[in-house]
Amino acid sequence: MTSYLIKNARILGGEPQDLRLRDGVIAEIGAGLAAADGETVIEAEGLVALPGLVDLHTHLREPGREDAETVLTGTRAAARGGFTAVHAMANTFPVADTAGVVEQVWRLGRESGYCDVQPVGAVTVGLGGKQLAELGAMADSAAGVRVFSDDGKCVDDAVIMRRALEYVKAFGGVVAQHAQEPRLTEGAQMNEGRSPGAWPGRLARRRRGVDHRPRRAAGRARRLPAACLPPVHGGLGGDHPLGQVQGLGRDRRGHPAPPAADRRAGPLLRPGLQGQPAAAHRGRCAGPARGAGGRHHRRRRHDHAPHPSRDKDCEWSAAAMGMVGLETALSVVQQTMVDTGLMTWADVAERMSARPAAIGRLAGQGRPVSVDEPANLVLVDPAYRGTVNPESFATRSRNTPYRGLELRTRGRHVPARPGHRSGR
Ligand SMILES: [Zn+2]
Repeated sequence: MTSYLIKNARILGGEPQDLRLRDGVIAEIGAGLAAADGETVIEAEGLVALPGLVDLHTHLREPGREDAETVLTGTRAAARGGFTAVHAMANTFPVADTAGVVEQVWRLGRESGYCDVQPVGAVTVGLGGKQLAELGAMADSAAGVRVFSDDGKCVDDAVIMRRALEYVKAFGGVVAQHAQEPRLTEGAQMNEGRSPGAWPGRLARRRRGVDHRPRRAAGRARRLPAACLPPVHGGLGGDHPLGQVQGLGRDRRGHPAPPAADRRAGPLLRPGLQGQPAAAHRGRCAGPARGAGGRHHRRRRHDHAPHPSRDKDCEWSAAAMGMVGLETALSVVQQTMVDTGLMTWADVAERMSARPAAIGRLAGQGRPVSVDEPANLVLVDPAYRGTVNPESFATRSRNTPYRGLELRTRGRHVPARPGHRSGR
């Protein structure tokens, strides 16, 4: 039996309370609980207790690109960032389009011991968009896949998408679509637009052809009582510097609007501010604001996208897209949303844990912090101040635009489940 007593934690930012965790379950909550024999006491004065964070979009790169990340290093980064579960995207080598590959990733996750790894299955064979992958076999496998996505590739064949939706309906699955019209974005780059280097506005987005037709088609398909279709890359396009914030706001005319979080996070990231060099290769990232979220955004996902430096330190057009995010996401959310009064800690729990867990069909994750619930918790130190030093990251890659910035918040994943490691 493993038993922990957490003293004086502020559940969702409320008044300090004690929590007793026993065998991975919250056994007792109250004031002044006494430690039992052999119980590990965790002093949590000043710390906020949240349900463990859940990410819907993480690249663990294994198998195939272990030079960028492995399941072990990626989950360790996740645990450090306060995540107790991550969804591992399917664009590995080989692609996670068979039961064999998703089981391998799932097993590696269990062996790592840092957090739950829930593999995402490809919708089509080899992410090729032509032939449905073996969705049923992946669902029935030990990995129990429920979320399917071709990630950065839009499943633009309506018949295939319809089949996928009908198929996953049988087991309550989800298809996550990349809302980008591929014929309009061939060779497109972020800097196309009126003011290269500035945040692309609607004009740039329209030029890039990142639009919402695929989502609208998906909306029609919703009449199939099949799956929900959370967009896999927000609506801002693959290389919007602040894009990829999950979930879209709407402006008065009903157009997708840049999430408020982007504008909030902007000053954190604007090149030249706070000593951040305007290095294009580093700037080519799919969402420094990942993890940040507007009040109107229903869930967050981070698109942790590790790349080795040789894939980033090159010409803009050749640079790989994406940035690492797991270890900084919560800090960015606190600094841009909680400290500014746009979100409460309860909102953070809802958007970074409860909703992603519900979308990802993860039982036991994203649950309330209350008695008889699973003890997947993260303790957050909201007063912590630290400078981002990528050399100290647990992830194998260093592609972060936050280098040198002072960020708040440090998560401490509570190892309440037997065999679970903290990442530190
Ligand atoms: Zn991705």
